[in-house]
Amino acid sequence: MRGSKSRVVALAAVGGCFLAFWVPASAQGPADPAQRAAQVGSEVASTGPGGESPADSGAGTGLEAQSPDPATPAGFASDLDRTAAVVRLAWRAEADGPAERARRARRVALQYGMWNFDPAARALIGPELKGAGLEHAQAAVVLSPDLPAARMALAREIWMEGDSPIAAVRTAFGALLAIPRHFESSVWFSATTLYICTLALIAGGLLTLVIFGALAFFHAAHDIGDLISSAMPAFARAALLGAVMLAPLALQQGLLGLALTLFSVGLIYGAVRQRLVLCVAAIAVLVGMFPMARLAGVLLTAYVETPIEAAVFSTEGFALPGDMSLLESAAETDPIAAMALAVAARRSGDLSDSEARYRRLLQQDPAHYTAANNVANVNVELDRLESAIDLYRQSVEMRDSATVRFNLSQAQGQAFKLDDVGPTLAAAQRLDPKRIAELTLLQGSDLAMFTIDLPLPRRMLWDRVLASSSGGSFAAELRSAVAPGVLGHSAQVSAGAFALIAILSLMGASRVKRSQWCDRCGRRMCPRCEPELGDEAECESCNRLFKHPETTDREMRAARVNALRFRELRLARVRLIGSIFLPGVAGALSRCPWASFIGSLSAAVAILAVVWRNGVSPDPLVAGVVAPIAFGLIAVLAVFCYGASVAASLSARSRS
Ligand SMILES: [Zn+2]
Ligand SMILES: [Zn+2]
Repeated sequence: MRGSKSRVVALAAVGGCFLAFWVPASAQGPADPAQRAAQVGSEVASTGPGGESPADSGAGTGLEAQSPDPATPAGFASDLDRTAAVVRLAWRAEADGPAERARRARRVALQYGMWNFDPAARALIGPELKGAGLEHAQAAVVLSPDLPAARMALAREIWMEGDSPIAAVRTAFGALLAIPRHFESSVWFSATTLYICTLALIAGGLLTLVIFGALAFFHAAHDIGDLISSAMPAFARAALLGAVMLAPLALQQGLLGLALTLFSVGLIYGAVRQRLVLCVAAIAVLVGMFPMARLAGVLLTAYVETPIEAAVFSTEGFALPGDMSLLESAAETDPIAAMALAVAARRSGDLSDSEARYRRLLQQDPAHYTAANNVANVNVELDRLESAIDLYRQSVEMRDSATVRFNLSQAQGQAFKLDDVGPTLAAAQRLDPKRIAELTLLQGSDLAMFTIDLPLPRRMLWDRVLASSSGGSFAAELRSAVAPGVLGHSAQVSAGAFALIAILSLMGASRVKRSQWCDRCGRRMCPRCEPELGDEAECESCNRLFKHPETTDREMRAARVNALRFRELRLARVRLIGSIFLPGVAGALSRCPWASFIGSLSAAVAILAVVWRNGVSPDPLVAGVVAPIAFGLIAVLAVFCYGASVAASLSARSRS
């Protein structure tokens, strides 16, 4: 990943900086047991409107804190860093305890659109994301409520306290639910999940083709030998067919080429259901190799190869100078970069530049509700309340939002339009009571204007990631392992090859007189070598033994039945072991091809989820232990599916 190392160093630096304020600050503040117990994050609202807040000393509006922060690490984009410094100032101000401190920092962060102030949260829970005390973890969740690692650290701390294990489990569950709300985590988790699904489809599909191809191999070998001479020994027949089937490997077509020949053999020797499953398995392999692999590649690379990462980092509250120049160069054509710069301009105090950038965005995209709200906030700061009220109304018309209505009510209050404030707030309350409760609590008794910037629109970010043309080279590299030849180069060629083989095999199947095994004794029955057999499912001697016992000698019959029973028992044991431990075998042996395919697929998912439990790419410090827990749950689910498929196969076998 581009600059991921410098990123970690930067995170650690900002973290250390933030933490440096925590230690003396929390030492001065008396530890208040009531506040320690207070719930945090979204539950912050449940503590009721906090009258406990002392008058805020200059941290409320933020920008008056002009003094550059001496602890600012070198190499940061200074303007954005100033915002982080403002939040730190809010954090550092005299407070009644950590909860109060976090609340105040959260308020300033929201004003500047930092809905998740990840760097601070990471600093609070420690560089290894493992937690550093209950108060730190609670404050981390307040500052970055959607960061899964922060919630998991809190769950861990609650668990260690030992008072309420159920609350700990609930918080851990909340960490899993936070994944889709946090953009960076959702990209990272979906990339790994897609990667696992891609490999599972390829592996599960190939395994299914191999199993059914292998089961038919000896019949096919016998029948192909009969074409040359019926006196041909078995090993020569196997060698002959083996040579034919391995030809694609010799032609550099890799595993996929071999899969094509196995697919053909499986189709010729299978019944209708097996043929259907083989076609589905082949489609699974192709879907995994082409569209899914590309999508996984897009998710793994697009985020770091486009200005999206720089935009997300800068709006989250800190950016490297490289990020800023990347955004500058992309801003002309890229609305996400343009918006990140508008946010940065406001945070650095350059309000006219910020307004110009937002206005340009609104011109380019008249439905940009985020730009409308944020430029309204700039207008509030410039004391142009009428214009701000207009812009808030425009934003609400484009897309109704409780937050924007809350901002509108603030501007209306400031403009002494007191009759409008009540209805605006009531409408906001109806839209999202929880959000309004949180904002009201954050405002507390502080009467200073409290308007909130909207973050980069999630839809816009996702659209950009998914529209990226990157990912092709990643997919090609993945394919080259399975299909290094012409089959791997194009989806059309691969799909065409499978379709052609399917048509030829099904046409050929009706002409081939197929040999098979006797159901009872396992002897080969070949319609060419023994033309008198007809369509029986058992060989002549078994037929006589079981259907016409009067024609056999009594003692010989007893001995033969015994031998067959002994063989059946021994086979059953081998089958049971194979069924449990070899994916896909249970279904194949019980003639449940669907169960076989599902077994192969779920075994692949389980193994891959354990192997990639920490993600395919390094965790960008968002997941922590949430990753192994989430992927462990996927593995458990897959093992359950595998068990169900084996049980279904075994019970189908015992019924037959
Ligand atoms: Zn037999
Ligand atoms: Zn034969």
